[in-house]
Amino acid sequence: MPRPIAATIHMGALRHNLQRMREAAKGRTLWAVVKANAYGHGLLRAARAFEEADGLALIDLCDAQKVREQGWTKRILLLEGFFDESDLPLLEKFDIETIVHNRHMIEILKAHAPFKSLKVHIKINSGMNRLGFLATEEEGVRAELEAIEGVRVMGVVTHFANAEPTYEADKPATVSLQLSRMRQIEPRPEHLCMANSAATLWQDDVKGDAVRAGVALYGASPDSHYTSEDLDIRPAMTLSAKILAIQNVPAGEAIGYGSRFVTHRDSRIAVVACGYADGYPRSTPDGTPTYVEGKIAPIAGAISMDMLTIDVTDVPEARLGSEVELWGSHIPVNEVAKRCGTIGYELLCAIALRVPIVEDEQ
Ligand SMILES: *Cc1c(COP(=O)(O)O)cnc(C)c1O
Repeated sequence: MPRPIAATIHMGALRHNLQRMREAAKGRTLWAVVKANAYGHGLLRAARAFEEADGLALIDLCDAQKVREQGWTKRILLLEGFFDESDLPLLEKFDIETIVHNRHMIEILKAHAPFKSLKVHIKINSGMNRLGFLATEEEGVRAELEAIEGVRVMGVVTHFANAEPTYEADKPATVSLQLSRMRQIEPRPEHLCMANSAATLWQDDVKGDAVRAGVALYGASPDSHYTSEDLDIRPAMTLSAKILAIQNVPAGEAIGYGSRFVTHRDSRIAVVACGYADGYPRSTPDGTPTYVEGKIAPIAGAISMDMLTIDVTDVPEARLGSEVELWGSHIPVNEVAKRCGTIGYELLCAIALRVPIVEDEQ
């Protein structure tokens, strides 16, 4: 028997969320972002669920090859571009589009021309200061790229640092600042792709011809001040594990490593078959909710490698074998993340390889 833990991936939720983002994209091309093993949900599984998307966007050329070989015939975009000149023949062979974000990449393209057909997108740094050319450089970069035989400029992309609606207007790198820089590009590019999930959901000023939706497709709100229900998206991953022991612990006893949690009453403590080696963060504090037998039970004591402990004193129904939801439709992944000082994205994509994946149609 495998350990009694599973990440259940809800195919119906993935499909529902794709439709939801399709509506929010309002006729724009919809790239489904499937980087980081589809945010922990499984690359090939996500590609199946997102067959209605217009394209898949990801980071790793090997992953791009895998989805092609599985039969994905629509577009594929490398969000960080190619990393080495040896990638170029594969881009052509598998019809994979790449961003070009720096001069070094242009030089590589020049050195390896001519191409049969190599599709590139010009990445603009409009304020995030991570990848890309300045908007004022776009015209020159485009001319250089278009002069390379076989290179086809598909459009222009940029990325927002802060597209959440609760980001304050007096802070750096707002959407409106980044948009004002994008407006310096003249004439307006024939194909412009700017929005991530947050901008697609909340920033009506962000136009363009395409959007790149990631986290919302997996049912997590990009802004922790909003719930999935607020956005009509459904959590696509449930991380759950079973209770493998119950201890009746008198008041004044400490639980687990470091004795962080001390019982203030006679308590029932359940030991659950999930630990930090499964991707449940060790930094999770006491009081973080889990869901068992229809009730909330708080984390009590430090997370171990293979186990964690919850206080089920107020959940008399909890027994050996009861299933505990660590995150999913009752416990938003963002709620656990917030308690740990991080974001749902990190928890989803850190789900460990050893956790068995179960697929359902819900
Ligand atoms: C990850 C990523 C996205 C998707 O962002 P979400 O917030 O998950 O929607 C879009 N564009 C780029 C360039 C990315 O790296």
